[in-house]
Amino acid sequence: MTRIAVLGSTNMDLVAYVTTAPRSGETVTGQEFRTAPGGKGANQAVAAARAGADVAMIGAVGTDDFGDQLRTALEHAGVDIDLLRTTEGPSGTAHIVVDGDGGNAIVVIPGANGSLTSLSHADRALIAEAQSLLLQLELPMSAVLAGAETARRNGVRTILTPAPAQPLPCELLAVTDLLVPNEHEAATLTGVSGDPERAARALLADVPEVVITLGARGCLYASRAQPEPVAVLAPPVTAVDTTGAGDTFVGTLAVALGEGRPMTDALTWASAAAALSVQRPGAAASMPYRAEIDA
Ligand code: ADP
Repeated sequence: MTRIAVLGSTNMDLVAYVTTAPRSGETVTGQEFRTAPGGKGANQAVAAARAGADVAMIGAVGTDDFGDQLRTALEHAGVDIDLLRTTEGPSGTAHIVVDGDGGNAIVVIPGANGSLTSLSHADRALIAEAQSLLLQLELPMSAVLAGAETARRNGVRTILTPAPAQPLPCELLAVTDLLVPNEHEAATLTGVSGDPERAARALLADVPEVVITLGARGCLYASRAQPEPVAVLAPPVTAVDTTGAGDTFVGTLAVALGEGRPMTDALTWASAAAALSVQRPGAAASMPYRAEIDA
C-alpha cells in the first residue's frame, strides 16, 4: 500500500448555501447552513485514504468541540492521527459561501493550525518513511519548509498545493517535486493570467513538474522532460459544490503516482475522483472511495 504523509491544516468548515453570494455591504438570505470537517490538509488526507493509501496526518486542532470533531472525522476516515497535536485555544475554521452555480468563496481563520511552527523528531521520522508528502499553505511557512526539506533529504516525493495563493519562498520551490496550483494560484505565482499553458511553462523554471487545475475544464500537465503542456479533460458533470475538488484531485493523484502509474493515467484517475466529488455537497464528505473512482 502507498504510504502518504500529509503536513497540513484541519479546519471546521462552516458552510452557507446561497443562490448568489453577497458583495461587500450586502446581506442575502441563504438556503442552508452546514458544518463539516475540512482544512486542505485533512481533506487531502481523507481523499488519499479513501483512494486506498495508508495515510498519516501531521497537524493541530484546538481544545474546542470542533477539535474533537475534527479528530474523530480523521480517525473514521482511517487516517493515522498519532501526530495530530491538540493545542490550547480554538481549532481552525473556514467560513465558506457556496453559490447556486456551485462556486465558492472562503475565509480561513488558522486557529490551532497557526501553532504548528516546527516539526518534532517523530514528525520527521514519519515523513522519512512515506512515499509522498502532501503540503499546502494553511500552516506556518516554517513548518511547511521543514517538512519539504525533510522529505527531500529522504527521497520522498513532495507534492505542494500553493493555496491560499501567495508568492512562494525560493527555498520551498527548491524542494518541491510536483506543484499543483489552480488557475488563480498559478496566476499569482507567475503573474500570467488567462494563459495557463504559458503559466505552466513559466513554473517549470521553479519546479520539475507542474499540474494546473482548471475547474470544469480539467487540468494541464508539464514537466522539464516534456515542457509542452498536455491537457487532461474533466468528465462533463453537473457540479453542485466544488469545495474540496482540488484536494480530492491532489489526494487521489498522490495515490496513483505512489502506485507507480504513469502521469497521464494518474491525472485521468484524479479527474474522475474530483468530478465525482463536485456532484455531491461538502468537501471531505463528497470524496469518492477507490471502487467508485475505478468505476
Ligand atoms: P480548486 O478546487 O483547488 O479551486 P479546481 O477548481 O481547478 O481546483 O478543481 C480541481 C479539479 O477538480 C479540476 O482539475 C477538475 O478535475 C475537477 N473539477 C472541478 N470542478 C469541476 C466540474 N465542474 N466538473 C468536473 N470536474 C471538476
